[in-house]
Amino acid sequence: MPDAPGDRLTPERFTLRAPQRADARRPPRHLADLAPDERATALREDGHAAYRAKQLSVHYFERLVTDPERMSDLPKAHRDRLVAEHLPTLLTPVTELVADGGRTVKSVWRLHDGALVESVLMRYPDRVTICVSSQAGCGMNCPFCATGQGGLTRNLSTAEIVEQVVAAARMLRHGRLPGGDAPEREAPLRVSNVVFMGMGEALANYSRAVGAIRRLTARHPTDWACRPAG
Ligand code: SF4
Repeated sequence: MPDAPGDRLTPERFTLRAPQRADARRPPRHLADLAPDERATALREDGHAAYRAKQLSVHYFERLVTDPERMSDLPKAHRDRLVAEHLPTLLTPVTELVADGGRTVKSVWRLHDGALVESVLMRYPDRVTICVSSQAGCGMNCPFCATGQGGLTRNLSTAEIVEQVVAAARMLRHGRLPGGDAPEREAPLRVSNVVFMGMGEALANYSRAVGAIRRLTARHPTDWACRPAG
């Protein structure tokens, strides 16, 4: 039930209203929304060979690349269309806040519909953790939390959650975060921990959050850069 004007928000009162205009706000479908077998079907339905799904998956999940110019194994005439249809831009960087001598980076992202979300990448001596958002806003009304006081805008898609981790993996691959102990510096740096403690309550967006966890822990198409080694 909607709050009456002037009502005080309390910890006991959740605002689990359905997001408005859900279809209009839905992000474009992305490769990372789909399981590997679903990707092959989607490519085939769009008139491409099914094996393009694995090629695109390797570019996105392993090479962390979405630039058609860097996909030399794809036919040049089809690259732009393949990327536009299956790797659309989901997150646009708005701003970054850097702390701890560069070892913590908080990123603010704009989604396709203008909603803003945050992720935080933290490098420690023995691990690298990314804290992701699972919703734009939040309906839980925790009294200590500014996000909760603003209410829920919408659920994030699986790919919007995954993309926060991929963006973090790119940062690491490009040497954006200093620090770490000596053995780590000698090994390829990768995201080792993912926590759903950014904006939103992941269990209130259960199926998409679980979809993201499945993508992040999958062994397909090969050994993804974000998956912990071992
Ligand atoms: S984002 Fe987390 S802390 Fe904030 S209101 Fe939602 S569940 Fe509570």
